[in-house]
Amino acid sequence: MLIVLLGPPGVGKGTQGELLASALGVPKIATGDVLRAAVKAGTPMGLAAKAAMERGDLVPDDVILGILRDVLASPETARGAVLDGVVRTEPQAEGLRAMLKGLNRSLDVVLLFEAPTDELVKRLSGRTTCENCQTPYTGREPGSTCDKCGGKLVRRADDDPASVRNRIQVYEKQTAPVVAWYRKNGPRVASVDSLGELAAVQARAKAALAQTAP
Ligand code: AMP
Repeated sequence: MLIVLLGPPGVGKGTQGELLASALGVPKIATGDVLRAAVKAGTPMGLAAKAAMERGDLVPDDVILGILRDVLASPETARGAVLDGVVRTEPQAEGLRAMLKGLNRSLDVVLLFEAPTDELVKRLSGRTTCENCQTPYTGREPGSTCDKCGGKLVRRADDDPASVRNRIQVYEKQTAPVVAWYRKNGPRVASVDSLGELAAVQARAKAALAQTAP
């Protein structure tokens, strides 16, 4: 099953996507994780993306489409994938569709995670993230240890209040129209109310998926 997760920053796409991916037995691919690893490794792609990421702006579509091309070419994703944080613009949606068409594949469903903006700001400003495996935590100080891998928790450079505000604006301006694009061009867009306990949101996400034939 090939799924795109849409939704504003802080809505919990990453955490929910991880759970869905393991339930489906497919990898979760987050372009943000790929880019952060490139920044950390100091690759040319990382160097080119760093400033835009720290401001909370999007990196250019051709960079993202390059990442997607590699992801789809990998045998790991042959049975499907959960795509988290991509697509974020209409050209990315069009590029992904063309790429999939060339491979004789298509998306099965778009899951749209939704929560009120003040809740997103609250979640992001109190968040720390494992610098190794990217697991997010709330209510844990920077410098604490990740339960999953023992890595160090850090405050993401783009989780400061100015970047958070910008990321939410960028989402509303550039990514929200992608929802309308998918409603027009398919596949089905299923909304998931993302307020409440993690398990309750996961149950809603799975119920939304269950209405989609694999
Ligand atoms: P995320 O981890 O999904 O919040 O992404 C962190 C940052 O990486 C974003 O604020 C963007 O700067 C960049 N990024 C990740 N995915 C994309 C994408 N599909 N298109 C453009 N920029 C992206």
